[in-house]
Formats: sequence, C-alpha cells, structure tokens
Amino acid sequence: MHEMGVAQQIANIAIDAIPSEIENPKIEVLNLRIGKLAAVVEHSLRFCMEIIAKDTPLEGARVVIDEVDVRARCKSCGHEWVVEGPAFRCPACTDGTVELLSGRELEISSLEIAD
Ligand SMILES: [Zn+2]
Repeated sequence: MHEMGVAQQIANIAIDAIPSEIENPKIEVLNLRIGKLAAVVEHSLRFCMEIIAKDTPLEGARVVIDEVDVRARCKSCGHEWVVEGPAFRCPACTDGTVELLSGRELEISSLEIAD
C-alpha cells in the first residue's frame, strides 16, 4: 500500500521535529497539507498513521488534513484557475502550455506537542 510508505515518512519527520529536551514527548495534533494530485487516499493514510503511531510520540495524535486544490496557470495568457477534471488546458485561451502551481503537496504544516 502506497499510503504505508507515506505515513512512515510523515511519522519519521514529525518525530524528528520534536525538540530533544522534551522528555516523553507526545504529539497532540499533526497538521498535514496534501494536494489533490498527491494520490493519497485520506482514510488509508489515517489507517496507516494509526498503525505506525503505536508506541511512538504520535500515538493518539489527531491528524488534521488540509486538502490543497490543484491550481494551474497558463503560460500564454497568465490565466489562473482551479483544475477540477483531468483536462489540463487553459479555459481562457485553450492553449496547451500550462504550469502547475499547487496540488502535489505532501507535507507537515505544523504539529502541536503536549506540555
Ligand atoms: Zn491561457
């Protein structure tokens, strides 16, 4: 399962981010930013996170997922829009030269550690 690898990576980064002077740290909230193009199934990721979090500072953490829209910009006319379907074509001038502005994010935006 692709999400298992993603969950493992997220968990490693989150745990590495805990300041070393904290004894028995516990992460309460983990805020993630996941682009709609990142090909991550949210409920699978949550399921994998729960398995990986067991016996780590992440156990019991609330995982908050901020889904990022896919935004594109046309290099020909500068038009920007939110891509809803698979078609990557500028709706303003129908030119094919389109660059992706967002939608591939897969990152931790912040985490909250219990005092
Ligand atoms: Zn255009």
